[in-house]
Amino acid sequence: MADEVERATLRDGERVLLVDAKERQYLITLRAGATFHTHMGIVGHDDLIGAPEGSTVTGSTGRRFLVVRPTLSDVVLKMPRGAQVIYPKDLAAIMVLADIAPGVSVLEAGVGSGALSMALLRAGAEVVGYELREDFAERARANVEALVGDRPRYRVEIRDVYDGIEERGLDRIVLDLPEPWRVLTHAETAMRPGGILCCYLPTINQTSELRNALAHSAFGMAATVEVLHRTWHVEARSVRPDHRMVGHTGFLTTARLLVPDTGAAPYNAKKYAADREGDTEPGRSPGPI
Ligand code: SAH
Repeated sequence: MADEVERATLRDGERVLLVDAKERQYLITLRAGATFHTHMGIVGHDDLIGAPEGSTVTGSTGRRFLVVRPTLSDVVLKMPRGAQVIYPKDLAAIMVLADIAPGVSVLEAGVGSGALSMALLRAGAEVVGYELREDFAERARANVEALVGDRPRYRVEIRDVYDGIEERGLDRIVLDLPEPWRVLTHAETAMRPGGILCCYLPTINQTSELRNALAHSAFGMAATVEVLHRTWHVEARSVRPDHRMVGHTGFLTTARLLVPDTGAAPYNAKKYAADREGDTEPGRSPGPI
């Protein structure tokens, strides 16, 4: 019960999303005694601290503001960025396509602003990130820390993934960089068989080059998908798609690391004995070998 109350009310130091009457959203960190200024008026943080999530408060000019905790998607779209982030619709798809689950070990490159890192960590993965730029790595670490508190399952190294991958036995490799085909040979030794590679690329030319390289690698079961996301306007008698949408973000390509097929059928002692005794049923297939 105490926990429920704790979760229900907003605390000093927490990030919250303020929504004004025009549905404009502001991501702020609550600080006792502080004030938030918009052209819709001033909101005192002290009016928010201790209030239940989902409350409406009144600003200095009498305007009303709704306050809720931000979702991962809100944070990703509003957090400070250096590099372009992966959009929430694609983050969601990556979690399923790469089958991210608690305890799964993931190498992520490049880390950029850390949006994908956040989604991976939220899903319970153990993440090692490679990033070329120290300033981006620092920002990603800060963004991740602001979301998940301390980050025991997250390590970012300043490295060029085209030069190689230090880790071994990885379950997943997720790439958001311009030339993922340059990572394939490193990925073959760094990942365990059955592991999943997932690459995000903005253009189909890059995707095509990647698919071509995958076709000549130890990876198989390659697949490419584009996620379209269209929001709707739903109001009284006007129910239709919104006029504007994010028309394009990127293509997602997945593949799995396979054990080379030597062409030899695996030895099956039972079938071998049955064949010798001639007791397989006539007309019946001996089953998969
Ligand atoms: N997925 C990230 C954004 C990544 S942007 C997010 O959701 O926030 C691409 C990043 O890859 C950039 O920060 C760039 O510095 C980094 N990068 C490009 N080539 C790289 C390489 N060879 N090794 C490591 N990082 C690389």
